[in-house]
Amino acid sequence: MFAKIRNHLTIVYSTVMVCFLISFVVASYTGLVWVLYRQEQQDIEVYAKEEAREHSSLLRQKQLSAILPSEEDAESDGDLFHYAFDLNGRQVSSSEPAHEVRAAIREKILTWQEADGEAVLTKVYLPGDKKNYFMLCSIKVYDGEHLLGTVFVGKDITSYYIMLKRLLLVLCMVCLLFLIIATFTGHLLAGRAIIPIKNSFTRQREFVADASHELRTPLSVMLTSVEAIRTDDENTLSSFSEQVLEDMRSEIKRMTKIVSDLLTLARADAGAEILIKEKFDISDIAEKVIRSFQPVAVEKGVKLDFVGINDLFIHADKEKITQLLLILIDNALKYVKQDGKVVLFIKQSSGSKGTVNIIVQDNGVGIPEEQQQFIFERFYRIDKARSRVAGGTGLGLSIAKWIVEAHRGTINVESAVGKGSTFTVSLPN
Ligand code: ADP
Repeated sequence: MFAKIRNHLTIVYSTVMVCFLISFVVASYTGLVWVLYRQEQQDIEVYAKEEAREHSSLLRQKQLSAILPSEEDAESDGDLFHYAFDLNGRQVSSSEPAHEVRAAIREKILTWQEADGEAVLTKVYLPGDKKNYFMLCSIKVYDGEHLLGTVFVGKDITSYYIMLKRLLLVLCMVCLLFLIIATFTGHLLAGRAIIPIKNSFTRQREFVADASHELRTPLSVMLTSVEAIRTDDENTLSSFSEQVLEDMRSEIKRMTKIVSDLLTLARADAGAEILIKEKFDISDIAEKVIRSFQPVAVEKGVKLDFVGINDLFIHADKEKITQLLLILIDNALKYVKQDGKVVLFIKQSSGSKGTVNIIVQDNGVGIPEEQQQFIFERFYRIDKARSRVAGGTGLGLSIAKWIVEAHRGTINVESAVGKGSTFTVSLPN
């Protein structure tokens, strides 16, 4: 149980840490991308204005000479490049980008639709599934009110993009490293955090075990005394006193059952309840249990049957398996209506060899679907009043679950309100 709590706490710590780390990576990465983007955008817009200023006299000259302008081409200087066009769309000057992207950039310029003087991030696809990133800006060149032409400027920012991608990878790796450290530390801290809980739980468990143990003797003395008074022939009791004695007897019996169930669970929690395994015929045990319940079934007007094969030997704790059958059949009889039916099936599972299935089926009141997950918890009773009248303590199924799990088996319930319940136990043999 504590290992489960510790793992649960570790998962919670790690999940919180993952959320923090992911938020940190997303926030810092997005922030950095935005700052870089804005910086590049501003730089290109400034560069565009400078180029426009520098080209205004050239464009004015070309316009005045009215001859076909001779292109003044040059290789780009670093990642920056520009193109200047006159009003007729003729290129008057350029410093071109790298060869492999020239055609793609020219195509972008021809279809340019963006606002004047505003730098825009543009993706350019190159042969071989390659992608390059450019910051492009177009700006109109004026002579006073008079339009002279257009200048396009751009910068290849692919290297920034690659750098950012690498940075993201490094951030993710650092996060992963921190996550591993956080999980490890979380596991250690969770272990420390549950030490006081563990201690107080142990003390409480010891108290329950001691109290239950101490209560057993006085309770059995009380029960024997009440029985003695009831059966004493020389005692002439009024009908009222007889009723009081009968009520006392049933309450003492109920208390004895609670105390003994509590003791079983406390011992199971402490690991003191040890299984004594032996090979025995489970059908034989099942028949005996069914026989012992027949008077109760007859009294309630319920049909109680056993369906199983003979000589089905299992290697388990005979006493505990008997207790398991007693709990399940007792419950079925408690929650079945008059003229109802309870059947105990013992089968060897057809699928996995060696698994023995114990199935207890009734057509009683049933269990609401949303409550089915809780019925194996201690003191959980769906209808407290009904359970109390039926002599229930809310501990039966917790003990049944413990017995099954101690044998490395499983217990499940299928039920529908008003139709009945089927408890299926699978025990590895
Ligand atoms: P109890 O001693 O009260 O029967 P259990 O732990 O055995 O306690 O069962 C828990 C609850 O599950 C019961 O209070 C009852 O409401 C429900 N329950 C158990 N078995 C059946 C059944 N066969 N049919 C209907 N309800 C059942």
